[in-house]
This record gives sequence, C-alpha cells and structure tokens, in this order.
Amino acid sequence: MLSLRPLPALGDNYIWLLADVAAGSALVVDPGEARPVLAALAADGLRLTTILLTHHHADHIGGVPELLARFPDAAVLAPRDERIPGATRRVADGDTVAIASPAAHFDVLEVHGHTRTHVAYHGEGLLFCGDTLFSLGCGRVFEGTPDEMLASLDRLAGLPGNTQVCCAHEYTLANAAFALTVDPDNRALIARADVARTLRTRHQPTLPTLLEEERAANPFLRVAAINDTRMPWPAGAQPSRRRVDRFAALRAAKDTFHA
Ligand code: ZN
Ligand code: FE
Repeated sequence: MLSLRPLPALGDNYIWLLADVAAGSALVVDPGEARPVLAALAADGLRLTTILLTHHHADHIGGVPELLARFPDAAVLAPRDERIPGATRRVADGDTVAIASPAAHFDVLEVHGHTRTHVAYHGEGLLFCGDTLFSLGCGRVFEGTPDEMLASLDRLAGLPGNTQVCCAHEYTLANAAFALTVDPDNRALIARADVARTLRTRHQPTLPTLLEEERAANPFLRVAAINDTRMPWPAGAQPSRRRVDRFAALRAAKDTFHA
C-alpha cells in the first residue's frame, strides 16, 4: 500500500514522497532541499531507497548530496544531462523503472521544452511531471521551442484521465488568474479555481490534480478551444488557428502576466 504526499520546500516547490509505510521505505521526486525530506522520513521511520529527478534546476536537485550523505545506498535516477551530477542510472524515453521498495513501476517520458533534457515519470496512477505541466498552467519554455513544449504537453495530456498529476510547484492560484482571462466562461476552470482558492485559504496543497480535470480546465491543454476573441496575440501578430501559434501566444502572454 503506497502513500503519497507533497512536502513543501523552498519557496513554492513540492517534493513528492511516495512511501510504503509497512515496508518502511520511500522514494522522493525532485528534492530541491534535504531538510523536509529528512524530517518526513524520520517522523515515519522510513528509509530512502530512490530519488527520481526530472530536470537539472537547483530547486529540483539541490538536496540530493545531503540525502545521499544520510542514505548512501539510495538510487538516483536522472536524465542524461551533465548538469545533474551523481546519478546512479540515466533514464531515457521508453525506459521502465522498476523499484523494489516501495514497490512501484514507472515509464519514463522525455518531455523537452522547459529544459532540453526534462523527463517525466508515469506509473501507479501517478505522473511526476516536474516543471512541464502545472495545474491550470505549464512550465516556462527555457531551453526548447514552443513546438517541443506543446508536443510534451500533448503526450502528458494523452495519459489516462484518472492519472494523479504531481507537479513540482504550488502555482495553481497564479495560473488560475491568468487562465480566467483567456477562458473566462469555462465552467471546469471556474470550478477548479474555486476549489484551489479554498484549499489555499486552508494552507493545503492544490495538488495532486486529476489529468481529466486539467484537460477540461487548463488553457495550455485547450489551445484550440480558447475563444478567438480572447486570444492574447502579441501586437502586430496575425491571429492563427495553428495550435503551436496559439500555444506560443498564450505562453508569452503568461510570461508577462501580473494579476
Ligand atoms: Zn525548472
Ligand atoms: Fe522548478
């Protein structure tokens, strides 16, 4: 029996902890710092067996050395990227990750765009998608192209609707504010934003989110459905029905959006 929870870290990161409490073992995803992980493991008497990394940014890997100092036998899985040192296994698209304890299987998906080597892990009804897909938003396109990022989001959106999406940041309310400007009549979005507001008022995480809810509410998964009159085309740009043009315009507008 696996138990899942997001550990708040740094400013607005979540480090996902997946544990088999009966077996006394756990894995974590994207530990940007060690302290909250060590505290959670100690509280439940858990041993860290595995660290999954999605991409090289410091807020996702910064805690690895300190965790390895305490749990030197932990496996560290990461994409092939020299900016992520110390991996015990490099993963690539189509790989299967089989973890003995906590017993879990994950498929690796390369989802480039935020960075040029970003991966996601999908299995056990869960998706660890790092900074690619957020609730009601998506990651910034730092190293890839809008084409790559849209293809990555399309792949994630094609996973089963009951997948629990475990994003690496609590960005839902800020994403909702932007999403409501481009898709204000979307009832699924309005409902999701209301739920998220209530959760944050109670200082609870808005994650995980269900993939089918994101498909209905997240404007970056609905680029073709956004009303043409609401599309935030940059000055001088010609309105387009091409999905990648629409995605790029939405992403660019979000980059400069302030609620
Ligand atoms: Zn990042
Ligand atoms: Fe991040």
